[in-house]
Amino acid sequence: MSELTRLAMLTQQMHLEPSGGFECPELSSRKQDSIAVSHAMLPSGRKIKLLKTLLTSVCERDCYYCPFRSGRDFRRATFKPDEFAKIFMYMHNAGLVEGVFLSSGVVNGGVYTQDQLLATAEILRHNYAYRGYLHLKMMPGAQHAQVEQAMLLADRVSVNLEAPNTERLQKLAPHKQFVEELLNPLRWAEEIRKAQTPHKAWKGTWPSTVTQFVVGGADESDIELLSTTEYLHHQMGLARAYFSAFNPVSDTPLENKLPTPQKRQNRLYQASFLIRDYGFNLEEMPFEGNGNLPLEVDPKTAWAQQSLKNPVEINTAPREMLLRIPGIGPKSVAIILKTRRESKLRDLSQLTKLGIRAKSAAPFILLDGAQPAYQMALF
Ligand code: SF4
Repeated sequence: MSELTRLAMLTQQMHLEPSGGFECPELSSRKQDSIAVSHAMLPSGRKIKLLKTLLTSVCERDCYYCPFRSGRDFRRATFKPDEFAKIFMYMHNAGLVEGVFLSSGVVNGGVYTQDQLLATAEILRHNYAYRGYLHLKMMPGAQHAQVEQAMLLADRVSVNLEAPNTERLQKLAPHKQFVEELLNPLRWAEEIRKAQTPHKAWKGTWPSTVTQFVVGGADESDIELLSTTEYLHHQMGLARAYFSAFNPVSDTPLENKLPTPQKRQNRLYQASFLIRDYGFNLEEMPFEGNGNLPLEVDPKTAWAQQSLKNPVEINTAPREMLLRIPGIGPKSVAIILKTRRESKLRDLSQLTKLGIRAKSAAPFILLDGAQPAYQMALF
């Protein structure tokens, strides 16, 4: 099989992975025989053309949800590290891609597979002097020294937890060990960031870490997912949790399980941002009796409807309070704080001009002591 054919197969297959989502990619090409390139948003906010691929789609593990599980009948492909580095640099130099996200199926154990990924990264950085974006996946069971090496080479490293705890992971991937194989590499990454200066890292800064959950595959609740997410943000310096709604894959043990609604995935993202960026904690999330977030209304509005008893004066409220108003995010708060130093905010059209979702905020605010004009009509 030619290198181009293998790369086309692997990039197409990568986009079938239920837990493959990250950086909100949107495909620019999905023809069966073409190399799939994603448009991805970097943590800096810059958009790039990203090659999201596997080094191999062979896997010796048997995770219940995964299209690459051992024994599943489909055509697989593999690259050696130097082969992959060569073809990637060809595409990069031709301007076809600007960055790479590199993952892999597991072959000969997680440690050996991680070595293959690291060897690829070494060749890119050292042999080809590649200076672009590199996201490296950590394999289950990766060792401390491998995490350290990945952090010297990558812009971002990820370990997909898939489930929020040991018990739930058993239902998705009974041969993965939640703490030993998945959580520990995330923990080590944070310990390395805290204990060592990043002067040897390729850019002089440590890479961020992210994880991903398969939502609904293990019948877990949103409380469980967000409780683990909160812990990871606060204790392990996690930059972001990705949530991927479970979708059954044919010829897997979960093929008859119902898919998870996309809306649940979206609500989890919203709640995780409230915890990460808005000062909310888990106890404040508006969970329903089944431990899940409501689907009909976003979690911030649901919280405000339940807990924001008095409207908030936009002209005097502290930053922390402004952040709790629906329709107002961190950027909007910064604009409000700057604007109100110069003049009072008196009507909703001013908020709209500042880029704020005034309609969402209106029921919960005062503008110079008065409720906004159309707020009354909403009640
Ligand atoms: S180890 Fe990864 S690639 Fe292999 S079956 Fe499990 S999720 Fe799929």
